[in-house]
Amino acid sequence: MKKVFCSLVLFLLLSASFVCAAESNDPYKQATECYKKLTNDAAKNTDVKEWKACIKEFEDIVDIDPNHKKADASLYNAARLNKDLYKQTKNQEDVEEAIHLYNRVIKEHSDSKLADDSLYQIGLLRKDALGETDRAEKAFATIIERYPDGDMATQAKAQLALLSKDSSDNNNQNEIQETDINIQEKEPVYKEISSDNDNPFKSAKLYRTDVDVKDDQTVVTLYSDEKRSFTRKFVDVGLRTKSPAKLIINLPRTKIADNVNNKQDVGSRHLNWMSLTHGILSGDLVVKFELADNSAYDIKQIEGKTIVRFYDQGANPSYTEIKNEKSLKQKIRIVVDPGHGGEDNGAVGPSGIKEKDITLAISKKLAVLLKKELNAEVYMTRSVDKDMALEKRTEFANAKKADIFLSIHTNAVKDRNVLGIETYYLNNATDEAAKRLAKTENLSASKPQDEVDKILLTLLQNYNTEQSNLLGQVVHAQILAQLAKKYSNVHDRKLRSALFYVLVGAKCPGILIETSYISNQLEEKRLANIAYQRQLVDAIISGVKKYIESNQDQFVSL
Ligand SMILES: [Zn+2]
Repeated sequence: MKKVFCSLVLFLLLSASFVCAAESNDPYKQATECYKKLTNDAAKNTDVKEWKACIKEFEDIVDIDPNHKKADASLYNAARLNKDLYKQTKNQEDVEEAIHLYNRVIKEHSDSKLADDSLYQIGLLRKDALGETDRAEKAFATIIERYPDGDMATQAKAQLALLSKDSSDNNNQNEIQETDINIQEKEPVYKEISSDNDNPFKSAKLYRTDVDVKDDQTVVTLYSDEKRSFTRKFVDVGLRTKSPAKLIINLPRTKIADNVNNKQDVGSRHLNWMSLTHGILSGDLVVKFELADNSAYDIKQIEGKTIVRFYDQGANPSYTEIKNEKSLKQKIRIVVDPGHGGEDNGAVGPSGIKEKDITLAISKKLAVLLKKELNAEVYMTRSVDKDMALEKRTEFANAKKADIFLSIHTNAVKDRNVLGIETYYLNNATDEAAKRLAKTENLSASKPQDEVDKILLTLLQNYNTEQSNLLGQVVHAQILAQLAKKYSNVHDRKLRSALFYVLVGAKCPGILIETSYISNQLEEKRLANIAYQRQLVDAIISGVKKYIESNQDQFVSL
């Protein structure tokens, strides 16, 4: 009996030491475990000794092997633990130790992806914990100088802007930035290697999210117009609270398009919900997922697509998002806007034909055939002869979550000899004729002209100029080519840009088509002719189709 008991104890001791030996093979992993335990166990959070022990584990890695492949991350984590410790102790020595360790990352690993992050942290600590604004400014300025292409440059600029604002407000806050100390990270310093075309200064736009629920997996695809290398954080199931696990993905400098929902309840076997928020200072897009019990995840990026899969822990289902692309396809939404209406006749031709009637006739045909030929969802801003303020038209398009906005007009000038086709996209008009035209087409805005100008200029920044230009090019080319097949004297009066109020508020690519000159006798007659109208409509549809084809990734319903 006694012997059996002893060998059982021996067995337990052996297996215990075996576990320890296996863990100590990787000191970085062990130190990370220590970090996790520390930040996950609230009771230990107040024990300074525990913190120091963890810090020492990271420091030992570098002391024993300065060329350890995780040397930079070890120093960075040791610094971070000191910074977090300061939040409890308010002991200045802890801040200074953190700064010292961050400095070692910069000096000993200047090529590390963590070097600019370290400089940034030094800046924050100097600003918030030590109140040394001059030295903080220097740290932020150094980031911009040394790592202009790094992911911290934008944030450093924002900090510098804040500092100059603070000093003018004479209102410095010596409050350290709080981060959630209970966040347990699977990989505390996980950073994806940036790709070459990851332009750090241009904002990307998240224009669509898809959730595909299957028995064995839930796949979320985030579509962005530019690739952004992501960082992630994983918060495991709360030990005490039992709150579900969360995955947080950060996409740097990414804006959310207006038509994308900020919160989505999924309720699948693997995913409870997802939410999208913006980091105010950083401009980062923060995507948060709440996992269902016993779910695992992986992430893959293909160009601008970030694909996050959730599945049973231990399972390894195959990727299915490519062959299921068809099921994700959505109809394209197009808003057709017949110019003018009601009290506002628009231009009137030599024989008395009114622009508002021509634009409505063309638009009605266009709407019917866009539905039929492109299988699009089509909405008209007006389908009868009525007034509609310009801003209401784009509000309508945005409410319908339009992908494309087409405003139909007929042109007019005093010189009755002028004829031809012009297509416009919104831009800061430089051309005098375009300015003049913009003024007459802007007349039915419900605001005074100078206010309209101001709004136009402000909103111009958010407008999708590049896509609208592309849409304008293909549509304009199609109109000219197709009309020229059947009609003589078809004049190319070019694709132009101007400040059109009706195009401004639209959050999607939009163009204004001046189908022909109603002020010219020949073209007035043509515009009133059903065959000519039909030819125009067919040409516009071919152009829109070509545009969609060139944006296959964005519009997949063809
Ligand atoms: Zn008009």
